[in-house]
Amino acid sequence: MEELTAQLSEANEIIEAIRKGEVDAFVVKNEDKHEVYTLQSADKAYRIFIEKMNEGALTLNKEGLIVYSNSSFANLINIPLENVIGFSFKDFIPAAYKKVVAEIMKAAWQNQESKGEIMLTGKLKTVPVLLSMNMLEIDGGMALSVIATDITLQKETQQHKKAMDKKDEFISIASHELKTPVTSIKGYVQLLRFNFQKEGNNTAAELLTKVDVQINKLTNLIGDLLDVKKIENGQLQYHEDRFDFNVLVDEIIEETGRVLNKHTIVASLAESRIMYGDRNKIGQVITNLLENAGKYSPSGSIITVQTSVKDGKIKLSIKDRGIGIPKEQLGKIFERFFRVSSETENTYAGLGLGLYISSEIIKRHHGTIGVDSKEGNGSTFYFELPVAP
Ligand code: ADP
Repeated sequence: MEELTAQLSEANEIIEAIRKGEVDAFVVKNEDKHEVYTLQSADKAYRIFIEKMNEGALTLNKEGLIVYSNSSFANLINIPLENVIGFSFKDFIPAAYKKVVAEIMKAAWQNQESKGEIMLTGKLKTVPVLLSMNMLEIDGGMALSVIATDITLQKETQQHKKAMDKKDEFISIASHELKTPVTSIKGYVQLLRFNFQKEGNNTAAELLTKVDVQINKLTNLIGDLLDVKKIENGQLQYHEDRFDFNVLVDEIIEETGRVLNKHTIVASLAESRIMYGDRNKIGQVITNLLENAGKYSPSGSIITVQTSVKDGKIKLSIKDRGIGIPKEQLGKIFERFFRVSSETENTYAGLGLGLYISSEIIKRHHGTIGVDSKEGNGSTFYFELPVAP
């Protein structure tokens, strides 16, 4: 009894060591019994290399039993190594992928090697991996060596790109289809307003003025969408000429001020300079920054527009006393479709395109654009452009 108990405990210790990966070993099923072969021939340097690499590495026997696993594989599926070694590889494959994996394994046994993308299931997670299988001869027996590379990041990037492409395609079609009807609605509204004014029906004429303001908003949105497409294709046209900077700024403050009539815009402009560039597009940038300052700050608050000239450059800054931008999102603010996410996110309508278009326009004029902001404490958006030679 004692001798048998000692043998049993020794056997248990060996099995435990194998399960924990302390011993590299093979469990080979021969006809009616299992035999354990330790892997004495394995080169120590290679074993350390395999143990330390980021990819999951496995050895499977003919029945698909895992006879060796490195710890990266166990980490990948978030299961302790002792619950991986000695188990069937199939245990870690979700049902939908069992057939694919069986085919990859069959191909490896037939053609020495095979590859495929599959999912692995582990504790509380599934991981997309690229499997690479090779047939190997170890200690006189045949085995499959498997390398599992985590491709979560690649998959996410691919999916993100696909989603962006779909969005672009939709936007491109929708904005094109919207442009024509909106333009004719605007024409009819103006005609109607003119007729009502002639008849002396001022109430109707005033209502149509309000309709016209809303149509202008829609036209601007469609314009932004079309601009983004043109920027992406490098087709945004610039009509460059010399122009007086302060005259432009005053014009925009006057126009935008009419819309932002619940805010006070205070301007402090340095002596004007002549600029060279696309006057309309630079005006579009100033309008966008001013509108944002109004949109993201409370009614009744002050918006300050300031310019200064230094080293042949003119700087315009627009400061609001609004909600500000969280520090961690500041770096992304000029990206396409980027909108700050917060509890207040749904309060403000927008597409997240204005700043993207603005930064493209400023860059094209060899200028820089930026922002200083603190969450809850207002923002100052600014750009700097070279003065015309
Ligand atoms: P939109 O305003 O249409 O969403 P923009 O590209 O103009 O798009 O702005 C991107 C995002 O930057 C906005 O959604 C908003 O979260 C943030 N943002 C822009 N201007 C301001 C500002 N003055 N104050 C606070 N947040 C701003």
